[in-house]
Parts: sequence; structure tokens; C-alpha cells
Amino acid sequence: MYGTTAKILRVDLTNNTIETETLSEEFYRMYPGGKALAGYILLNEIPPHTDPFAPENVLVFAAGLLTGAPVSTATRYVVSARSPLTGGYGESEAGGFWGPELKMAGWEAIVVKGKAPRPVYLWLNGEQAEIRPAEHLWGKFTAEVQEAIRAELGDDKIRVLQIGPAGEKLVRFAGLTNDLRHFNGRNGLGAVMGSKNLRAIAVRGNQRYQNLAYDAKTLMAIGGKLAKTVKENPLSWDLQERGTPGLVEPLNTGGILPTRNFRQGAFENVDEVKWEAYEKTLLTARRTCYACAVRCKREVAVEGRESPYGGPEYETVGAFGPNCGISDLQAIAKANELCNAYMLDSISCGATIAFAMECFEHGLLTLEDTGGIELRFGNAEAMLKVIELIGRREGIGDLLAEGSKRAAEKIGGDAPFFAMQVKGQELAMHEPRGKFNVGMGYAISEIGADHLVVAHDTAFAKPDAIQLKSAAPLGITKALPPRSLGEEKMEMFYILEKWGSLEKVIGYCFFGPAPRSFIPPEDVLLSINAATGWNLSMEEALTNLARVFNAREGFTRKDDTLPERLFQPLENGALQGQSMPREEFEQSLTILYQKKGWDPQTGLPTPEKLRQLGLEWAVGVVSSEQ
Ligand code: SF4
Repeated sequence: MYGTTAKILRVDLTNNTIETETLSEEFYRMYPGGKALAGYILLNEIPPHTDPFAPENVLVFAAGLLTGAPVSTATRYVVSARSPLTGGYGESEAGGFWGPELKMAGWEAIVVKGKAPRPVYLWLNGEQAEIRPAEHLWGKFTAEVQEAIRAELGDDKIRVLQIGPAGEKLVRFAGLTNDLRHFNGRNGLGAVMGSKNLRAIAVRGNQRYQNLAYDAKTLMAIGGKLAKTVKENPLSWDLQERGTPGLVEPLNTGGILPTRNFRQGAFENVDEVKWEAYEKTLLTARRTCYACAVRCKREVAVEGRESPYGGPEYETVGAFGPNCGISDLQAIAKANELCNAYMLDSISCGATIAFAMECFEHGLLTLEDTGGIELRFGNAEAMLKVIELIGRREGIGDLLAEGSKRAAEKIGGDAPFFAMQVKGQELAMHEPRGKFNVGMGYAISEIGADHLVVAHDTAFAKPDAIQLKSAAPLGITKALPPRSLGEEKMEMFYILEKWGSLEKVIGYCFFGPAPRSFIPPEDVLLSINAATGWNLSMEEALTNLARVFNAREGFTRKDDTLPERLFQPLENGALQGQSMPREEFEQSLTILYQKKGWDPQTGLPTPEKLRQLGLEWAVGVVSSEQ
């Protein structure tokens, strides 16, 4: 078998045991890494209705099929478990170096069950695996822990994936970080790791992907060709030049920059937080992930010193900037540092603080509740204090550590209206009232609001758009307005979602393949074939596995919805007065279900569809919930 190490490391922390499982070719072809492999394991190994913090929850770390290949953006791995934030299927991808290192150490995936009696970390030195004590690391910030593990093991090239103090304290939106700069932020999977007393997984590999590949020469040639095209393609070149913070100004101009908890679509102080200001006041260097020529990562200075945590991405600038009414870039960079030191998801953290600010301004939270903090929009000092309280679960932070949905239910009154979340997960910094497919993605995503379900509508608005041209091999050829729904738009969504799921199986970054960026679909397929020697066509099955998991946990069509605020008009900006049309949204949801082979009433996959996808074994799981 090519393209895979075919080995899974199975760790039982309750019994302190480690075992190796070898995958068969038949199985791996059906579930070839990443989201597919993780989805199969979750559905088959987590008992129904398991408490996310119970030892029976299963935590999976899975490399993609191409993770570690010498091709730009083939860097991603997935972390998966039942999510403590949503109660459903949990998943979060990250790039960096840890995923490639896992594969080069000889592993496709790690499956962790049980709970260690005391804090531990895992050390994978190639195929040698060891559970080591971590009491001396517990409670420490992520930068300290990475340094301590590397010093303890005597190798500063070890890649460390870890949670922070927030994961230890079971903050429901705690994430994981590798190399302090790459994040499995979403879905609270850091808290699941914390509940198992597992602080980190350190890995050192000693192999090369080329030795796994079916046709290493062709794979290297594709990688070499793509590296040269990064500068020729305006999409990847913009990522290299400005990185994701370059989005702030264009989104503001389009009236789709979430501002003051999604009440507004434009920020009056945008000049103070846009890319030019970032470049002038924060930027110190550019970095990259494993073997990636895009180089979209940023290094910054915070409080006059180089930050060990890298620079804030667009999502973080948006969440702690305009969405909290804050225009102080240094405070935003500090918020980014605090999130990464405690290891909080910066999207959910910023969005939950914006929610709390609106509650405070409406008198639903008082000075007594906040411990004297004036938690108003625009108050950067208050924001920074509250991040630390969340990370430590102290004072008002203990309530907000539950996420906006649970906090709103406890606060009561109008608070649920202010919680900008779907299935319990907070919206990323993309305004659906100007990008209807993004709204559909938020609603339908099994992991709660997720902005990476499909390439965004604005890319396909004009007939001469480079994204539209590059999407032609996928079957997308017609420009459609961002504020449109209906049959044609749902067909576009359906194709893009399948394509996005495929990326999450093979390990490509969202900023690699077209239409979002520079790798043509033909080269994506060529690279898979060169790695494995076989053709892959199972992407459609993937979203259904996550859907089957959620069906078992009681999710139905009623959960595929949007926050009520989005059906109401935006207060300002280029789209002032515009809302998401409710009736058309519901009709389009039905159209999409039909395309996917899901029951329009329940939103669950039909038995016929599951059989057609080769998922016969999952039919009983869904049927028993209908
Ligand atoms: S495009 Fe950016 S985030 Fe994606 S792999 Fe390359 S450097 Fe990493």
C-alpha cells in the first residue's frame, strides 16, 4: 500500500497501555486518513450519548493522505472527538509541522481513550511510543511547556502538539496548538484532551514521505511546479504578501466585516486595524508551514518584544477588533497571545466576549457579575482581563468558559438573541447577510458554525473572476450573486462542499487548492494518484459520516439554522438594511438536503443514500433515531 504508513497508535490512558494497529488496504481505501478515518473511528468507538468529558470519549489525531508530501499546503491533520461545545461530532484541522512529523514518525493516526490518573504526555520517537509524567507541566503556559519538553527530551526539533491551562480547566472552547502558531482551535477539543489528563503529544520523525509514495518522482515534480506558481497566482500571492489580515479592509468595504457582535457590517475605525496598520505596527517577519511556498503566516512584536506565539490571523483581528468594537492593534495582538498561551479558540473567545459586551450594555450582566469590569464594546482593557479570567475559569470567566449558548441560557432574558452561534459554536468573522452560501455552511455544518465548509460566495460573483475560471473542472461555470440562494446556488454549494471535504481527507490546507487558491483541481487529483497509485472518489461519503454521528446524538433539521439576528437587517455599511431572507433560506435548505440524499423533513441521510455510498453499516444508526 502506498501513500500511507498504515499504522495507528492506540493509547489507553486508564490502563496505561499502548498498542499498534495495522490498517488493511481495503479499509484505508474507504477511509483514507483525516476526516474520513476519524469519522469512522468516532462513530464506531464512542458509545451513544457519551459525556464529552467522560473517559469513554475517544480522541483521534489523524494525518491526511498527503500530509507531509513535498507539495505546498499538504500539511493538515485533524483532531476529532465528541465536542463539549456542541455535543455533536467534533473536528478541527490544523497545519504547521506536527501532522507531517506524525506521518514521518510512522503513524497515520493516534487514538486515545480513557483518562490518566495523573497528568501525562505522549512521546513518539519514530515508532517508539511512551507515556510520560506531566505533573511538572500542568498549569504552565504553552510556550513554557514546549520549551520544557524539548529540553527534557534533548532535541529542539521535536514537534509539540499541546493544550494549555484552558484545556486543563475544561473551557468548552479550549483548543490545541502545535509549534505555538498552528491551531486546532474549534469545537473545544483541547478540553477533551484536558479531561483525559493528557497535556501534550511530542513527535520526532525519521522518514521521508517520498519513501511512502507510489510515484515519488511525479509527486516531487508536481510539488516543484506548484511552488513556482505561488507568485503567479494573485490569490496565493496575496496570501504571501498580506496573509489573512489582508481581508479586513475589503470585507469592511463590502459591508461584511462583523462589527459589535454582528449588529453592523462596517467598522468606523477600520484604518487602525487594516493590513497597512498591521504591517506598520506589528509585523516583524513572515513564516510558513511544512514545505509550503505560500508563506502566509505572520510574526509580530507585542509590548516591544518578539511574540513567541506568531501573529493574529484575520479571524483573531476580526473577533477581538471590530466585533468587540476595538481598534487598538496592540491590544488585539495581546489578546492573540493570551489565547495562545492559555490555548483558547480565538474565534469563540472573541465572539463570546462580544456577546457578553452586548449583554452588559443591555443590563443583562452587571458590574457585580463581572467583578467590577466595565465590559463595554471598545474597552480593550476589559477584554484582555476577561480572556485571562476565561482561561483560568475565574469570576465572570467561569460563566463565559461555557461558550455563548450555555452562558446565554444561564443569563436568560434576551441573552440567547445575542449569542451568535450555531449548534453551540460561535460564528467565525464572516457575515452571512452578504455571503449566503457562507450562511448555509454555518447552518448545515455538523460541527456548528464553520466558515471553511465552502469557498465563499464573493469569489464567484463576477464572470471573469479567477476563482470561477479555476472552478470549471469541478463543474462550476456560472457567476452568481453572493446574496442569492435557490437551485443554482445550492448546486454550487453542493459541489464546493464535496470538494472541501476531500481536502480534509487528503490533508491540503484551505489556502492550497482552487478555487480558493492556486492548486488546480487536476493537480490535486494527480498528486493523490502519484502518492497512492489509485483514484479517489469517496468525498461525498464524508459529510454523511459526521451527519450520522449527529443523528445518533439527536441532531435534526431544527439544528441546521442561523442566529435570529441574521434574519434581521444590518445596521450600517454597504449592506445596511439587508437581511437573510428566511423563507428562501428554508427552501434552499430543502433543495440542498435533496441533492445530498437527506430526508427533507429530518435532515438525516436516507438509508438508500447510505447504501449507495457503501455505508450500509451506518443505516441502523440513523434509522433507530428517526
Ligand atoms: S497556505 Fe499558509 S496556512 Fe496553508 S499550509 Fe501554507 S503557510 Fe500554512
